[in-house]
Amino acid sequence: MFSFEIIERFKNTPTPFYYYNLELLKDTLRIVKEESEKYNYHVHYALKANSNVEILETIQSYGLGADCVSGNEITRAKELGFPSEKIAFAGVGKSDEEINTGLENDIFCFNCESIPELTVIDELAQKKNKIANIALRINPNVEANTHHYITTGLEENKFGINRWELENVLEILQTLKNVKLIGLHFHIGSQITDLSNFKGLCLRVNEIQKWFYEHQIIVKHINVGGGLGINYENPKQELIPDFSSYFSLFNDLLELRPQQELHFELGRSIVGQCGTLISKVLYVKKGINTNFAIIDAGMTELIRPALYQAFHKIENLTSIDDVNERYDVVGPICESSDSFGKALLLPTTTRGDMIAINSCGAYGEVMASQYNLRKLPKSIY
Ligand SMILES: *Cc1c(COP(=O)(O)O)cnc(C)c1O
Repeated sequence: MFSFEIIERFKNTPTPFYYYNLELLKDTLRIVKEESEKYNYHVHYALKANSNVEILETIQSYGLGADCVSGNEITRAKELGFPSEKIAFAGVGKSDEEINTGLENDIFCFNCESIPELTVIDELAQKKNKIANIALRINPNVEANTHHYITTGLEENKFGINRWELENVLEILQTLKNVKLIGLHFHIGSQITDLSNFKGLCLRVNEIQKWFYEHQIIVKHINVGGGLGINYENPKQELIPDFSSYFSLFNDLLELRPQQELHFELGRSIVGQCGTLISKVLYVKKGINTNFAIIDAGMTELIRPALYQAFHKIENLTSIDDVNERYDVVGPICESSDSFGKALLLPTTTRGDMIAINSCGAYGEVMASQYNLRKLPKSIY
């Protein structure tokens, strides 16, 4: 992904920093548009994956909607030109202030996750003399076969309304005058690379739709969330995920009623591959079975390996040595989990070498912290 000109250009740039390839982002967005428009699907971008202004402006310019999980994300989406009628607000714990932000902006939809939340939205909407559009986030109890920290669609997870509660939800909805049911929402998890997991979701949505139909309810909007994964092992082989197969699976398996619209909320699959974390080697020291390459980026810049045991492909951009050795690539933070990879085969690595950690566009910079009083990373586009 890195040419020699780029390495030359950044030789003297202070590290660590995030490097974003906006051309790749645009190519990805073009394909998302082409593939989703074949079926008139609506795609919202999940801001939580990366909410940098430059990234959001690019995504907005392709006409995607915004999927927000906080009041501040709604505010940012509005500031950057996402229209209110394309903003959805999800999250298991929306505060009153955040709900009010959504109401004031007349957003497209609140994805509601519990009965108490429905009643609070109703109350707050009533105070403003508004009707809030809502979708019920239903826990589909579908396995996503991804890391358990990023599985969301099982009954044991905190997300969504379980099926046995639906009867009760419908009764309560009849008493709430300031919310209007317009959709059903689902999201089974993240970094899903085996598309057959989405097949399970489609079949479950069909079943749940049938249940609603039997209760004389047809909502206008079905939202199947996000979760399409990216290739972390070999990013260069698959810089753009297979959106064609993804959307066509839904077209084949999900039964929409006439006039129903299908929505998606994609985060990682849109921005994941366009970001690279660039770092330099501070020290190389001998371990018992391995060498440690201690780099100047740590879990403060990229927490995914420490948090989810996530794999990111690591390259030494400067060493042209053809002897390969084993290295544990670790950060400088005072935590043993501050490690990016164990026993990785890299060309002989020395102090000052430039290290690229690939596929960091999603859930990378947005999760950066100032632990150890470190500075937040800079980004270059
Ligand atoms: C995080 C999240 C998404 C986006 O997930 P990706 O795996 O990044 O595509 C979509 N919808 C909801 C409700 C989410 O919480």
